[in-house]
Amino acid sequence: MDRRSYLEALGASGAALTLAGCTSTGGSDSGGTTTESTTTGSTTSGTQQTQIVAGTAPGFQPFEMMQDGELVGFDVDLLEAVVERADGYTLQRWEQYEFGSLIQALTTDKIDTIAAGMTITEKRKESIGFTNPYWDANQALLVREGSSFQPQSLEDLAGHTVGAQSGTTGESLIQDLIDEGTLKQSNYNAYPKYPLAVSDLENGNIDVVVIDTPVAETFVDNRDVVVSATVDTGEQYGFGVRQNDGDLESALNSGLQAVRDDGTYADLTEKWFASGGTTTTSE
Ligand code: GLN
Repeated sequence: MDRRSYLEALGASGAALTLAGCTSTGGSDSGGTTTESTTTGSTTSGTQQTQIVAGTAPGFQPFEMMQDGELVGFDVDLLEAVVERADGYTLQRWEQYEFGSLIQALTTDKIDTIAAGMTITEKRKESIGFTNPYWDANQALLVREGSSFQPQSLEDLAGHTVGAQSGTTGESLIQDLIDEGTLKQSNYNAYPKYPLAVSDLENGNIDVVVIDTPVAETFVDNRDVVVSATVDTGEQYGFGVRQNDGDLESALNSGLQAVRDDGTYADLTEKWFASGGTTTTSE
């Protein structure tokens, strides 16, 4: 499915995206999927600002998701804060893709950076570059609440129907099980978005979803699912950049360091990951 029909299928066409500090006017552009920020000006002391476009894949809460028609999440806030502190660059707009299409969108210049909870892997490093890591994750085995099937390891998935999002590290764990003969190909359902996999899990169409731990926790909070076990994969998320875009990579790395140093990173972690159960009244 191409991006346009994908977005239309989601009913996200025309969704107004807002950038920090810029109010979207709500008018849909020709593509109907993005809203350009009105130029914020403030080019500091006449330095040339390079406008960049960020790509993401909503449906990966709390990193990126649609809320009341608006793209929000930890990655959205973090990248915006990082670019604000990245010398010479301004974030022009966000573009939405299926997760599995983001790398191609980057290498074909549709976008300039990926902010999508994307794990830095050797395989991906063959085609794109990454900034320094900004988040750690492992994989979780997500099952229905009250299910008698409580897998404790990947091997326990044998004979069961498994789901994951296309193009993810969760999918590659499943692919390994298929390659080694533990799981049948027909027992794997690939989904364009994790929320669809979780719905199929709740409906009993599949038995387990393999998904990043922080996102699994969000589904546990909001849906009728629980984590039966975690698989220690030691993943780290980075922002993706083109391999020939070392200037942007260095600028984003400086920006990442700056948001860590000035407390913004800690504030955003608090904002998006403070557990819903434990109230944190800020005074
Ligand atoms: N971290 C996982 C990966 O990089 C999943 C990312 C996602 O689904 N947005 O494959």
